[in-house]
Amino acid sequence: MMNEPKDADARRAVEPVICYPVETLPSPDLPLYHEARAGAELVDEVLVLRREAAAIEVPAGHFLRMQSVDGPQVGDLNLFAAADLAERFYSGKTRALHGTHITTGDRMWSCFPYLRPMATVLADTLNWYGIDASGGSVHDVIGTRCDPYTARLLSGDDYHHCCHSNLTRALADHTGLSLNEAEAHVHDVLNLFMCTGFTRDTGQYFMKASPVRPDDYLELFAEIDLLAVLSACPGGDCSTVHSSDTAACYPLLMQVYAPAVDALEGWVRPQVSAYSRTHGR
Ligand SMILES: [Zn+2]
Repeated sequence: MMNEPKDADARRAVEPVICYPVETLPSPDLPLYHEARAGAELVDEVLVLRREAAAIEVPAGHFLRMQSVDGPQVGDLNLFAAADLAERFYSGKTRALHGTHITTGDRMWSCFPYLRPMATVLADTLNWYGIDASGGSVHDVIGTRCDPYTARLLSGDDYHHCCHSNLTRALADHTGLSLNEAEAHVHDVLNLFMCTGFTRDTGQYFMKASPVRPDDYLELFAEIDLLAVLSACPGGDCSTVHSSDTAACYPLLMQVYAPAVDALEGWVRPQVSAYSRTHGR
């Protein structure tokens, strides 16, 4: 440990500054979305089996509900532009803009060079949870996804039902890509219903039993045509372990609701970033 400088306390005491003030972001028209949702009808659904993943397409202007059924369960969500897998969810920038965990009114942003809202969180039955005494909260964009590479690194075993592999198989099945091709598109997730944070003493990523119960849901408004792939994590409620068949696991339900014709009058799909991409040359 290096010796502290004399002004160490003063250096620590400077006020933090928010990196990305979001006041200048165009804000979603939540009242319009809610009005459209009120008249929307169920048009598609899929049950994500435990320790598996499933894919569903969500046209722009439609609503995606992801719901707990049977028991407490967390999910790992990948989002793609339906027409172009290169445009995918960017958890790092979403975190920088909205914080470590997302809830109603926050948006899920796509990667460079697109950087536009892919989806807006319209409803979250767990938004009462807030930030607990451990610094934990739900729906994180700080974790990555459980995967067989890290599992092997830490335990020496191969486990094939980590979210990374579940997402890879489901994406391959939906698109017709090979497993290797599909795997290259799998990215850091939205940890649906997962309760996480960083320990204050060591800064380590922690998880605790999710407060989710059957019938809880998170609902997204699709800002663009989406392909959503959701894994029912082998960690179950993530109260103990993951990357094994040890934890009690339950399915998750994905439902797509279509708005009534003209219900979204005046709404326009967000465009990709207008940055010139000349990078100073
Ligand atoms: Zn997982």
